[in-house]
Amino acid sequence: MRLEQVLDFGPVKGLRMGFAPVGKPLMSAICYQLDNILIDCGPSNAHESFVRLVEWEQVEHVYLTHYHEDHAGNAAYLVERRQIPVYGHPLTCQALRKRIALKPYELYMWGSLKPTEVREIAGQVESDKYRFQVIHTPGHSDDHVVYWEAEQGWLFSGDMYLGARIKYFRSDESVMRTIASLKKIASLEFDALFCGHNPQFGNPVNHIKRKLAFFESVVSDVAELVDKGLTDREIYKRLVGRKEFWPAKLITLGDVSYKNLIRSAIDGLRDTARSR
Ligand SMILES: [Zn+2]
Repeated sequence: MRLEQVLDFGPVKGLRMGFAPVGKPLMSAICYQLDNILIDCGPSNAHESFVRLVEWEQVEHVYLTHYHEDHAGNAAYLVERRQIPVYGHPLTCQALRKRIALKPYELYMWGSLKPTEVREIAGQVESDKYRFQVIHTPGHSDDHVVYWEAEQGWLFSGDMYLGARIKYFRSDESVMRTIASLKKIASLEFDALFCGHNPQFGNPVNHIKRKLAFFESVVSDVAELVDKGLTDREIYKRLVGRKEFWPAKLITLGDVSYKNLIRSAIDGLRDTARSR
């Protein structure tokens, strides 16, 4: 089943796309069209929706928040078939240059990710009417950036928000780096948070602060048990327990789980202790 929807935010249009071979899509992704640019380009299994929803005569440049297949899935199509330049962080360019072996659940949910040449962005990018500061926000992925339009109060945040309390974490995410990046974002002024899955309006800085507080409280709970000398196993037993969201853990074969968040906090605390 196909899910496609145009979300009207005035000068910004959100193009929501999702696809599932059977039944309703489990998730959808949003890319944004404004002025003469696109921010992110959706998953490749929603390619038909992407082609249909974009107002092509206006698009001159495409900017990526990160290399994940639900945000960069149509990048190769843009570069090769439409000759539209796609830009990203140097690490995004590096990641998309080679074929990434996606996991079965990623392929099922979002489709494949074809390698392509993405151009490196500088610290600032401009569309015809707007100017965006590019801020490196690693944590969810090493290459992640957000695009901040200070005058309009817009933040295009890729996967930095998603929700204030998260139920699961990817195995390759870093909670310590995410906390540092959320602090950077929380210091910005904006009143529209154009999240890649869950846009927020009406004091969105507060949403970011709530997410930051949630991660900080998880890390402090873990730190307390580490200080007491508990083993990793004992820490998992105390802090994961009923909080584990089993459907996600099972579907992704453990790549996405609440336990990953606790593990990332343990690893992060150990790294910090080692570097002291
Ligand atoms: Zn992502």
